Amino acid sequence: MKFLIGNWKMQLSEAESERLADDIRQLVGSWIGGTGVTAVLCPSHLALGAVSSRLAGSPLALGAQDVFWEDKGAFTGEISPLTLKELGCRFCVVGHSERREHLGETDAMVNRKVGALLRHGLTPVVCVGETRQERDAGRRDATVIGQVEAAFSAQRLVGTQSVVVAYEPRWVIGTGQAVSPADAAEMHYLIRDALHRSLGEEVVERQCHVIYGGAVDSRNLASFLAVPVIDGALVGGASLKPQEFRDMVAIAADHQG
Ligand code: PEP
Repeated sequence: MKFLIGNWKMQLSEAESERLADDIRQLVGSWIGGTGVTAVLCPSHLALGAVSSRLAGSPLALGAQDVFWEDKGAFTGEISPLTLKELGCRFCVVGHSERREHLGETDAMVNRKVGALLRHGLTPVVCVGETRQERDAGRRDATVIGQVEAAFSAQRLVGTQSVVVAYEPRWVIGTGQAVSPADAAEMHYLIRDALHRSLGEEVVERQCHVIYGGAVDSRNLASFLAVPVIDGALVGGASLKPQEFRDMVAIAADHQG
């Protein structure tokens, strides 16, 4: 199975989000179902309801960009996993580097969010990745392994619960200049090993997926998906263009199996 997860960030109004969902549905809705590609659209929180209605009955999945770790209570401005579920979300991004950077999201917070999502049968899309400084200081691997271990510390996958981990080198996001597939592959192996230690090898092989994110588009996606250990892509900028998204779904479909 290959994943294509579009992170729309805070780029679109509610009306623009509805239009983009309509356009993507029109371009891929009739044939994505048979491809084995899981395509997920992640609009901003305020557009989730509208986009959910637009996707109803289609094989496209809905995802959120963040969640709070409690179900209910005095947590002003936060969004409950129960509400995400009610709105039809199946996936939720956590620990995106922009939240880590601008909102002080810590590994401990990511861990609690992962727990909350799993409790409610939502699939966390856990973002991990090093800064340029960490890479230059030779701390790429330790940083990423530490993030994975922290996110899954004391977690257990039961039943049909599943997890996606997105390796996103932070210094690459939004630059149009991805790392090489070989570089990404090296990190995917390390992440898989860390997941094996945290969650157990058998469950990871069955229920965990590791994808790449950072300046992916229809020109370079095939080179990443050609690496068997890369299970898909988390896409920012290019996911806002319907034709690009369509082309990326077609490429992912070609790399099934
Ligand atoms: C992202 O924000 O997760 C991302 C990968 O962005 P972009 O594809 O624009 O680099």
